[in-house]
Amino acid sequence: MSERFAKLDPPQRVLMGPGPSDVSVRVLQAMAAPTVGHLDPAYLAIMDETRQMMRDVFRTKNELTLAVSGTGSAGMEACVANLIEPGDEMIVCVNGVFGGRMRDVAQRYGATVHSVEADWGTTIDPAQVANALQEHPDTKLLGIVHAETSTGAHQPLEEISRLVHDAGALLLVDAVTSLGGMDVRVDDWQIDAIYSGTQKCLSCPPGLSPVSFSPAAVAAMDARKTQVTSWYLDMSMLRNYWGSDRVYHHTAPINMTYALREALAIVLEEGLDQRIERHQRNHLALRAGLEAMGLVWVPEHTLTTLNAVRVPEGVDDARVRSRLLGEYGIEIGAGLGPFKGKAWRIGLMGHASSKRNVMLLLAALESILADENANLARGEAAVAASRAYANA
Ligand SMILES: *Cc1c(COP(=O)(O)O)cnc(C)c1O
Repeated sequence: MSERFAKLDPPQRVLMGPGPSDVSVRVLQAMAAPTVGHLDPAYLAIMDETRQMMRDVFRTKNELTLAVSGTGSAGMEACVANLIEPGDEMIVCVNGVFGGRMRDVAQRYGATVHSVEADWGTTIDPAQVANALQEHPDTKLLGIVHAETSTGAHQPLEEISRLVHDAGALLLVDAVTSLGGMDVRVDDWQIDAIYSGTQKCLSCPPGLSPVSFSPAAVAAMDARKTQVTSWYLDMSMLRNYWGSDRVYHHTAPINMTYALREALAIVLEEGLDQRIERHQRNHLALRAGLEAMGLVWVPEHTLTTLNAVRVPEGVDDARVRSRLLGEYGIEIGAGLGPFKGKAWRIGLMGHASSKRNVMLLLAALESILADENANLARGEAAVAASRAYANA
């Protein structure tokens, strides 16, 4: 007897959390294109094209640029696994969940890790990095998060990059929540290794992690005395598949590559600068609206792609989020770690960074908070946001 199943029917949401973000129909349709073989010349051409598009979006000429099979965390692990040998010294900057995750990964690959820490919601001070580099002159790699999605903090990188290179070390950057939404300049900022994810500002479903390595990072990999501990993430083999040799390593996620190709095409057609400005404009309008309601921002130096605000006193965090989802189909994120129950994380990433979503969220949140008897200003948010758009 054969079983019958109901039609798969996930709801249409408005994804304004810390990721995934809304995916455009064009990207979803690309995923439905015919699956071909991972060595089919037609697929190899799509890979090459996608690779070049990744370089353009990273603003780099790095030869070793590819998409790791897996989400952003796989990209993080790929960077660390290939650049760290057991006993190597690594400095990891930690001011939120993802810096903490990078430290955990580095320890698992045998790095001797030195942490540079800052309070959640703040950024790492270059002076702290200078001190750490002075204290640990044998540091091979310094890892830092550009866009700390757990706190909404935006980390400036240029000065830190200069310090790291003056000390003869390599710079590893997490750009999961900035690539495709905020300025990321791999070559100008001399970033040696960088990873991102498909489901944040690139507005593609989760499943691939674009990564890029500078010539200096490739030289460090070539100089390894030990094999990379992870077989799956070993760049010395992956680059033979992505490069001209086309040696089978693992079966590429074919249809995910289609999706990434299409998502990157959308980014490049809009224009990186225009896209960054759009994220800025929508962030400023959302911020004007939320602040007019009386909500308070968490980080001083904020991302435009992820907006972290404090949950107002006396308001039930989980109930508000669940009402947003149930009544409006809007997903926003909860606080993590020390911000659990204390912050909301509102994503304006990629396709979801739109005037429509900003105005919808402001209206929905204002109405729910009024219902919940929160002590906040009413009727001001939309006006303030409209004014911000008019002045943009
Ligand atoms: C989301 C995120 C990651 C992890 O990506 P996954 O796709 O969830 O594996 C890493 N770093 C930052 C800053 C992120 O926002």
